[in-house]
Amino acid sequence: MTVKIAIIDDHQLFREGVKRILEFEKTFEVVAEGEDGEEALDIIEKYHPDVVLMDINMPHQNGVEATRKLIEAYPETKIIILSIHDDESYVTHALKSGATGYLLKEMDSDALIEAVKVVAEGGSYLHPKITHNLVEEFRKLSNRYTPGGTYQQPPAVVPPLHLLTPRECEVLQLLADGKSNRAIGDALYISEKTVKNHVSNILQKLKVKDRTQAVVTAIKNGWVEVR
Ligand SMILES: [Mg+2]
Repeated sequence: MTVKIAIIDDHQLFREGVKRILEFEKTFEVVAEGEDGEEALDIIEKYHPDVVLMDINMPHQNGVEATRKLIEAYPETKIIILSIHDDESYVTHALKSGATGYLLKEMDSDALIEAVKVVAEGGSYLHPKITHNLVEEFRKLSNRYTPGGTYQQPPAVVPPLHLLTPRECEVLQLLADGKSNRAIGDALYISEKTVKNHVSNILQKLKVKDRTQAVVTAIKNGWVEVR
């Protein structure tokens, strides 16, 4: 099955680079390119892409606004935001507008390919740095002080050894730390390919679709340290 992709970005060189990377994958086909949000709607109507890669900063209509309109008109469309911004307000706006992926332009080509695959299959994909920021927000929200002002000991972290191997628990913690596959490989002295295998085993065992859900599940259950 081919994944049809549209790239909306105002910089031609960036579009060309992204296209070139995506077309290394035999199952991907870049069906259209556009340079602003207004063009995006016409492109969807005409080409029915499965996945749209959408820049945030564009003239005329920005990517968040365009995403909102696209999702309104074509709720099935899967949109991945491409951005240079990792601050929370951008991410929140983008996700509220209906995007299911958020990538930073500093990503490597593997992350781009993985994101398109995950999102095409109905999952969500956040750049590791974004996951880390969300974990950080969660930490702030889970206020450890009671209304009276006394400090409450955070619950002890218990790795889910009833579900995962010790190695997979380590990988899960590093996912929660916001590490990319490459960084996890470096930390554990294993290859990126081995990391990918561990991650897919973790997803399967925790019965979740993607790494973001794995991290959320792990935090909720106190399986990882929020650090
Ligand atoms: Mg731009």
